[in-house]
Amino acid sequence: MLALEIIPIRLGTGGDEQLVDIGGRYISTKNCVFVRSVVGLLGEKKDAYTPLIDLLAADASCLQIFRLAEVVKYYFKYETAVLGVPRSFTAPEGRNYFRQELRSFVEQLEKFSGQKLTADKLSPAIDLLNKIRSALQYLYEYQARDYANLTWREVFEIVHAGFYLDRAGYLKLLQELIAELKTLPDNKGKIPGLQPRVFLTGSQLSPGDVKLINIVEDLGGKIIGDDFWTGLSSYLDIEIAAPTVDAVADGYLARVPHAALPYLDIGTDSRIKKLKELLQKFRAQAVIDHTLRYCDPYTFKAGETKDILNNEGFPFLEIHTEYASSDIEAIRTRVEAFLELVRTRNDVAGGI
Ligand code: SF4
Repeated sequence: MLALEIIPIRLGTGGDEQLVDIGGRYISTKNCVFVRSVVGLLGEKKDAYTPLIDLLAADASCLQIFRLAEVVKYYFKYETAVLGVPRSFTAPEGRNYFRQELRSFVEQLEKFSGQKLTADKLSPAIDLLNKIRSALQYLYEYQARDYANLTWREVFEIVHAGFYLDRAGYLKLLQELIAELKTLPDNKGKIPGLQPRVFLTGSQLSPGDVKLINIVEDLGGKIIGDDFWTGLSSYLDIEIAAPTVDAVADGYLARVPHAALPYLDIGTDSRIKKLKELLQKFRAQAVIDHTLRYCDPYTFKAGETKDILNNEGFPFLEIHTEYASSDIEAIRTRVEAFLELVRTRNDVAGGI
């Protein structure tokens, strides 16, 4: 999109029950609250961005998102472009299918923008996005250090700011922030080790969905990483070998796939391998899995992920929730007991 001078914004807020109710009038209430709230957002058009949308692009990794695109096209008359994603991303057939899908997606964008995609245009766009990905990875690694001057929550909000900002301006801000962090002395006001280091995994936390974050932080947990698609994961492991559409397709297909894509052999699932890598890198002591109700892909994978990580020695807590505030106290009680358990383990291991 950048290469075709289309202004991309990444839509989707969470945590707003009213938008979920509105969306539920148009799409089945058996869809996750994120999907329902985005349908509500697109139908209401009361925020700063939705009235300005000329084209809604969606990918079909999660079939609920595919359905969302159909629903808003039908009811609210959005022009849509949907990128098909293969279910088998390791087979040659899957690769050919995705290359073909991306070519026809690009053709649709070319028609929409009135421009032709060339290597000259694609190359600087790839370079810009590579730099943004590197900067965000740096910030994630930085916040997980002892004595950091930035928290995970602040980095997560910085990621979300990038959903809306002009990409070149965003990179400039990221680079300025990193330069400033490098000049700052360590934050010695913080004593490492006193707070359990918690890693968040699961379906997603969208901008505005702060219920779990608030609870963990209020109870003294230190969140030090995530593998959400609204967080770190969508910026990891994308290598594009050449400024061509096929190379872009191959680069995206080779990264760790979204968990909504089926992968039946959990023992060799690259998502789990990457999760273990991140837990080591961020020195996590515990994992909280956040799954939105009716998010079937992640709900089904939570149990097996728990078994694997328990075997690796990580305490694991599953939270299934929606945007309603009615379960705050129940979640608080469970998180409190969980953090207590982690503190006890740390004490026994001499971690404090
Ligand atoms: S992956 Fe889960 S949370 Fe994300 S849109 Fe699909 S159903 Fe909703």
